[in-house]
Amino acid sequence: MQQIRFQNTIEHMAHVSGRGYWSGRPITLTFLPGSPNAGIVFRRVDLPGRPEIKCIASNRRDTSLRTTLVSDACHVEMVEHVAAALYAMDIDNCIVECDAPEMPGMDGSALAFAVALERAGIRKQPATSLEIALKMPLRVGNENQWITAIPSTDPGLTIQYQLDYGSSSPIPASTTTYTLNRDTFAQQVAPARTFLTESEARGLQSQGVASHVTYRDLVIFGPNGPIDNSPRYEDECSRHKLLDLIGDLSLCGMRVQGKIIAHRSGHILNGYLAEAVHELKDSQVPMRNRYAA
Ligand SMILES: [Zn+2]
Repeated sequence: MQQIRFQNTIEHMAHVSGRGYWSGRPITLTFLPGSPNAGIVFRRVDLPGRPEIKCIASNRRDTSLRTTLVSDACHVEMVEHVAAALYAMDIDNCIVECDAPEMPGMDGSALAFAVALERAGIRKQPATSLEIALKMPLRVGNENQWITAIPSTDPGLTIQYQLDYGSSSPIPASTTTYTLNRDTFAQQVAPARTFLTESEARGLQSQGVASHVTYRDLVIFGPNGPIDNSPRYEDECSRHKLLDLIGDLSLCGMRVQGKIIAHRSGHILNGYLAEAVHELKDSQVPMRNRYAA
């Protein structure tokens, strides 16, 4: 059953500046109010003609470790933490001006974006949006990594993320469950940071990627736990994966009512879920199975 809700945008302009994790390039984001039904739009002000790209599933390209949007005119990278903050803060329409392609890594979390959006305020718009209520189970993935989206009698969207890389991984297994709520996001989910194992971090830096990133800029796990850093939550890693899932799911372009359970999913699988939910827009369909590449 589809319910009517009003769309929202931000009340005031907001800025966030930082450096891209991967490229090291400085970038400033300017969040501007968006028109009703316009959705979330990135605008590359560093390119001639200031091309725009919409934050929707059809613009997503499969990339590991981050979410990239590509159109004929431009691309933007690592949008997931920005998109998660907008979605969780109930913002439907917003122009995100950026002067470089890669979103700022900040402290590896979405906290700076959530705080900026909180300060920007929210403005209800004279337009309704559709909230899609899941009527049938939806599943993407395989037996090792999967996401199921199921109907629920509870209002809103509840997500459970199950992280388990096995007993040999320095990253501890944990599970986080969270019901999306504008009022709690900045405290409970947005501060959870990106994490890597030490060998993953060394591998990236040996390829010349993220050469400026230090142990303090995200959470890097050595054999004895986080190196030169302490966790913000006991379950910080699964909280962060839940944050990524919110950002990737937002590409479905709708509010979702139901429950999502994710087991070891990453950006590519999250993207498949967003596409599958988007396809439900016009008609709910029976259980789907889609396998990750
Ligand atoms: Zn992330």
